[in-house]
Amino acid sequence: MLIKPTLFVISAPSGAGKSTLIRNIKPLFPDMRYSISCATRPPRKGEIDGVSYYFISESKFKSMSRAGEFLEWKNVHGNLYGTPRQPVSDVLSAGGRMIMDIDVEGAREVFMKIPEAVGIFVNAPSLAELEKRLRKRRSDSEESIRVRMLNAYHEMRMADLFTYSIVNDELNVAVRELAEIIRKESEANTV
Ligand code: ADP
Ligand code: 5GP
Repeated sequence: MLIKPTLFVISAPSGAGKSTLIRNIKPLFPDMRYSISCATRPPRKGEIDGVSYYFISESKFKSMSRAGEFLEWKNVHGNLYGTPRQPVSDVLSAGGRMIMDIDVEGAREVFMKIPEAVGIFVNAPSLAELEKRLRKRRSDSEESIRVRMLNAYHEMRMADLFTYSIVNDELNVAVRELAEIIRKESEANTV
């Protein structure tokens, strides 16, 4: 089996389940690399610096941005998030495949810079279910949930920017769909 160098860009309203989906496909694609973003928000319980994100100060973020170290960066829900440029070009030029989990505005910028990137939009079955999941996660304040729900309307309107759309209702079904897209877009059988 041959692998094409492929960048998968996954976006979703916060709480739709994209981190859960990505966690579930990890064992299926051992060669897959994951873009680790820089973020100025504090870590949630269980998040490890250098694994979930590089948690950095706003001044460090701004100096990295000035030095051109981000492929893209955005203010999302009041915090700064940026994709380090170097790892993406390293993986793609080495012929590998990579997933990045970024917001819809960041995704739009990546599609302009890397038009062959494969966009996948993940959604919850309904806004009510989205809010339920944000509450179930127990990691966001009431104010943060309100901001995330308001942003969800805007994000859903931008779903057309993405080649694929997955509704994360039954988790196992959504994991299968995501795995199918990854295989179809980045794997070629040699026989
Ligand atoms: P995101 O990364 O999109 O912000 P998470 O992966 O953190 O979202 O998921 C938000 C919450 O919803 C978590 O508590 C997660 O366990 C739960 N969740 C994810 N997928 C499903 C699903 N298919 N059905 C029910 N709950 C889900
Ligand atoms: P969270 O704080 O829930 O981890 O992430 C909030 C939002 O920021 C999510 O929509 C996530 O996809 C997005 N995000 C994470 N990293 C980046 C990044 O590097 N760039 C952009 N534009 N968005 C990001």
